[in-house]
Amino acid sequence: MKKWFFILAVFIIIVIVGQQLQKDKLEIKSETIQEQKDGEYTVVEIDEEQMKIGNLLLINAQNQLDPKGIASDLITINREKALDHGYSLSSDEVKLSQNMLAAFHEMMNAAHDDNINQFLITSGYRSLEHQAQLYEEVGSVYALPAGYSEHNSGLALDISSTMSKMEVAPEGKWLQQHGAAYGFILRYPEHKQHITGIGYEPWHFRYVGLPHSLIMQERDLVLEEYIEFLADEGQLTVNTGDETYTITHYDYEPQLTIKIEPRVDYEISGNNVGGIIVTTRERLR
Ligand SMILES: [Zn+2]
Repeated sequence: MKKWFFILAVFIIIVIVGQQLQKDKLEIKSETIQEQKDGEYTVVEIDEEQMKIGNLLLINAQNQLDPKGIASDLITINREKALDHGYSLSSDEVKLSQNMLAAFHEMMNAAHDDNINQFLITSGYRSLEHQAQLYEEVGSVYALPAGYSEHNSGLALDISSTMSKMEVAPEGKWLQQHGAAYGFILRYPEHKQHITGIGYEPWHFRYVGLPHSLIMQERDLVLEEYIEFLADEGQLTVNTGDETYTITHYDYEPQLTIKIEPRVDYEISGNNVGGIIVTTRERLR
């Protein structure tokens, strides 16, 4: 009898672990990726468009977002759903990339567990038309021209606190400390104004995904610096305890093909400045 019980328990564990692995698969691949199999390896042909697509795009006053880089999975956040996850919205028009929203909700749940729960999203995705209008209305000191704002990509959001200003609010402090664990970075820190060209914005967070956010936090790099760092390093491996990530930078060239190890999840992103970054993930447990 005991033996049967043991076998049954083992079987249940295998099923649960299997489901968990499937659930945790990285969202990957843009529509433009051509993928083939070469023996065990996956061979990916990179086209020029790929440089302009992905979570690691550098978008700033010098580097305009290509319309192809606008997240293809934009959704409007429902107010009730927002309240379910314990934050509120300043309007009914807030849109974000769905992929990023999943990470954002995970982050909100964690903040709640720490009793930090007065978040208010004031801005998410902004269309190029909206950005052009904003630029015209408020001028170059307060807004960037269309295509030069991260909000145009669907990968950035402005978060405030209903309690106080973000620079002093517990919400702001919590996000600056913990956001990286969920793929988010404070995009315009106070001490990096000379690099970003943008004044301190304690409300503006950008999604770059894991493990990039963690590396940026640990090394105190803003996206401008991180993109350069990856290009200099060429390749690096990061171990987070549960996972091993390998990040490889390629200079884009026509007919670039990339070979990916069998049985790993992978994500490919352009950096908007001539490079392609491949991130692979292997689970250790
Ligand atoms: Zn912003």
